[in-house]
Formats: sequence, C-alpha cells, structure tokens
Amino acid sequence: MNGQKNKIKNQIIENINSFISQLEEKDKEMLEKAFDWIEIYHQNQKRLSGEPFVYHPLRTALTVSLWRLDLNSIIAALLHDIIEDGGVSFNEIKKNFNEEVAFLVSGVTKISGLNYKKASSDEEAENFRNMIFATSKDLRVILIKLADRLDNLKTLWALDKEKQKTKALQTLEIFAPLAYRLGLTNIGAQLEDLAFPYAYPEEYKLTKTLSGKRQKELENYLKKLVPQIEEELKNNNLYPVSIKYRAKHLYSIWRKLQKEEMDIKKIYDLVAIRIIFKTVEECYSALGVVHHYFKPVPSRFKDYIALPKPNGYQSLHTTVFTKEGRMLEIQIRTQQMEEEAEWGIAAHWFYQTLKDTKLYKKRKTFKMPRNLCWLNQLKEWQKSFTSSRDFLEAVKIDFLKDRIFVLTPKGDIIDLPEGATPVDFAYQIHTEIGNHIAFCKVNDQIVPLDYKLRSGEVVEIITNKNKHPSPSWLEFVKMADTKKKIQQVLKNIKILPETPKKNFTCKLEIIAEDKIGLLDDILNIVAKQQINILEHKGKTLKNKALLSFKLKVKYFSHLESLLKNLKKIKEIKEIKTEYL
Ligand code: MN
Repeated sequence: MNGQKNKIKNQIIENINSFISQLEEKDKEMLEKAFDWIEIYHQNQKRLSGEPFVYHPLRTALTVSLWRLDLNSIIAALLHDIIEDGGVSFNEIKKNFNEEVAFLVSGVTKISGLNYKKASSDEEAENFRNMIFATSKDLRVILIKLADRLDNLKTLWALDKEKQKTKALQTLEIFAPLAYRLGLTNIGAQLEDLAFPYAYPEEYKLTKTLSGKRQKELENYLKKLVPQIEEELKNNNLYPVSIKYRAKHLYSIWRKLQKEEMDIKKIYDLVAIRIIFKTVEECYSALGVVHHYFKPVPSRFKDYIALPKPNGYQSLHTTVFTKEGRMLEIQIRTQQMEEEAEWGIAAHWFYQTLKDTKLYKKRKTFKMPRNLCWLNQLKEWQKSFTSSRDFLEAVKIDFLKDRIFVLTPKGDIIDLPEGATPVDFAYQIHTEIGNHIAFCKVNDQIVPLDYKLRSGEVVEIITNKNKHPSPSWLEFVKMADTKKKIQQVLKNIKILPETPKKNFTCKLEIIAEDKIGLLDDILNIVAKQQINILEHKGKTLKNKALLSFKLKVKYFSHLESLLKNLKKIKEIKEIKTEYL
C-alpha cells in the first residue's frame, strides 16, 4: 500500500490498539489479510470520483474503528464491497476469515446489492426489508452500512444530478431517521447535513443564509456569557467537566424554520450551551444554580434524566431569559449521557466492553439493548406484509417519522409517530384495547378519538367490550399498523367499510402477456367498478412477449376488488400499485 493508504491503515490499527488492549497474533494476521484482499479484489477499480476504489472500504473501516466497534466489524467494513464488486463469495470469506465476518459482509451486501442505478422503487423496498432482517440479527450490519453511507455521501458530488438526489432523499428518509432511532444522534446529524444540499439545494442555501449571520452573532455573545456561567457555578462549588456551545445542525434548523413560519428568531436553540458533569447530582444542583441566575422560560424545562426518551436519551433541557432578554437553551448532562447521546448503541457497546475486554473479542452477536426491541418488532411485523413497498412505506411512517412520547397512567412511555391519535396509542398498548375503545382521556380530560397527541401527555383508554372499531377511524389514524389491525377486525365482523369521503388517485402498472383485446378487457373491468380512468398508455416491453399498461385511476374504496378482478385475467403477470 502506498503512503496515503498506509496512513489510513495505520490509523485503523492505532484505533484498534487503543480500544482493544492487545490483538492476538492470529487477529493481526486476519486483519492483514483483509488489507491484502481489498488491494487484490478491488485492484484497478475506480470510484466515480476518480480515486482508487480501495480508499472507500478503508475509510469505511476507519469510521467503524472510530466508533469503537470490534475487530470483526472492522474487518467486515474493509470487506463490505468485496462480494458485490470483487466477485468473492460468502463461503470464501467464511473460510478465510470467519462466519461472523461473512455474515456481516453479506448483510451489508444485500442492502446495496441491488444498486439504485436502475432505481426501481421496489428494489429499494426489497433492500430495505433485507437490511431490517439482517440488522435484527446483528446490529453491527446497520452500523457498517451507516459508515458506508457516510463515505458515499462525501463523494456524492461525483454522481450525476439525478442519482445525487435519489441517494440524498433516501438518506434523509431512511438512513438518518434510522440512525436517530438507534440513538446515533451524531451520525444522524452528519448524514442529514451531507444529504441536505443535494436533496433540497434551494432550501439549503436559504437556511444557510438565514442562520449564518445570526449564529455568528450568537456565538460571539456566548463567548462572553459562558465564563459568567462558569463563574456562577464555581461560586456554588460546582466544577463542570466542560461547558461548550454547539450550533444546531443545518438540516434541523431547516425543519424547525418550517414549523416557525421561517422566522429564525423563533429558534431558541440555534446555539445551545451544554454543561457536562461527572455525576447526576451535580447536574440537578447546576440546574438550580442556572434557574437562580437566569429566569427560566415557563414550560420549556424538560427532565430527560428522570424520564429518558425511549431511545435512551438523557439530559436536562431548559430555556432561560438571559440578562439581555434573549432566550437561550441550556442542556445539562453527565459525561456518560453525553457519550450515549452522541453515539447511542455504539456507546453502549463501548461501555459494556470496557468492563470486560475479553468479551470484546469473544462476543458472538451484538446484544440488543432493551430500548431497541422495536427492531425485533419490525422483524416480526415485516412478515405480515406481502409487498416490500408497503412495508417500507409503513415503516417510514410508523417507525422513522418524527416521534412523540406519551405516557400511560402508570407512567410507561409509549413512543409514537407525530400526529398519532388515541386510537394509535390504544393499538400500541394491546390489540384488544384498540378493538374495544369506548373513549379516551388525555391529562384527565375526555378528548375525541381523532385528537392529535402531544409529547408528555398522559393518555388513558377506557374500554367497553361491546364497543368495536368504526370504519371511519381509518380516515384519521396515523400508523399503518393501526390501519391493518382495524381492517382485520372490520373484515372479521363483516362490516363493510363506509366509503371514504375523499377521492384517491392511484397509478397501476400492469405487466401482461400480449393478447388481442387485452386492453379492452382491462378497461372493461375498470369501468365496471365505476372507477374513473384519468390516463392510460401501453407499450411493448423489451421482452417482446410482454406488454406494460400504465393506468391512472381515481377510486373510492373498491380498489381491492378491482385488483382482484384484474388478476382473474390469466395473461396478467403482475400489477404494481402506487398511491398518489
Ligand atoms: Mn460501499
């Protein structure tokens, strides 16, 4: 390896040495072999950016080593593209390294195995499903994938405009939210800021202009304010490990701007002060000092230490009025909370392994922390979907959207997507509770069932065994999971859903064997269902025997029966639906 490559290689080894006390001889050999293999199997390959391919796996492994993952993960990160681009098989990796490395590499390969070059949305969905499956077996799969994606985003400039946009949007919709849900805040923010300019160039420029000046000004102000706070803490015998101020990352500023009528002055945590202590006691004492020194803004104080977020996030947050009348967010937390907030599961891993360095090398699978059992739920859940596309869409809403956290009367935290209703809540507690909702109370007040829940509210469902779900619920519930469960019951008690009031538009793509009169047959069936056809066009596919029809239809509630009737035509091979 030449100079630059050697430099990365040595950094990786250095990281391994500082996180694992000493590598055994056979571990060192295995690592060297991985370095050799990528040189051999990616020989003469180039990235679109023009640099030799081998830099990409090297940098991916460097990132993974910085996250303090174990040796097998680092080797898997080195080899992560070797099946797909180097033509090496799973068994060869298993034979030459070990089964775990082979599993990790194949887990990452499946995900990117079907490239987005041809960008069929179904391939994307299929990939996603595979990734969830591999990840639920071993979390390191997603960590390596995120490291891979981070590096790809850094060289996104080399791709054409269309691919840039696809990759960037996919990052914002899937990978960054996944990182957040794993508690990897730092990685989520990095992914978002790398993808933002490619996904929404205009919005990116606007956000940068709006926030840039104000952020600078705020930082100058904080430079003066922080020593004052430090002084005040010292007067009370409190010595923080560090006080820093951090600018909010651009993409989250943009999202907040949208909620705040594009008024940058309404974003109070544009730059937040973060005070780190050794112990929890010091955190609470410091909060007292801060609230004594500054006047707190009512209702903006959050105690995530006593009530952690479901992803495990812990910290005290408060907003105060400074003496100059500005509003300022102050976050107070311990060192360990800081590590976990930034590095999520990677930090868990690190803390666990610190306790027992032998375990570090011997651990067979990455144990799932309790607050991540949603990943297992996801694995179970995907079995109930026949279409990967439906699964992906459902996961985007039910698992990856902005979250709210509400409480049961007993104080258990339930994690729901923003916009969730008491009905969604009830079904998350238990299907039977959802199936027998009589009414719902939020903070002791009766609310309608389509009420939009907000974080921190206490939600109580009162059930009655004679009550059943109403088809009208389908119009306001938020989660795909809820809809499925309601539909299940409606089917069983044989009540036909009421016709929804809204019209829906749907695109159908029908792949069929050529036959005279086929188009007429299809159009007849659609017309019989009294579904309006907005557009239709047909073409012969490359494989001359097959035709593809594209229909755009407006329908009410009977799309399912349309699909059923269409499938009776034996020439029809496949029907793809896309709801608009
Ligand atoms: Mn890669």
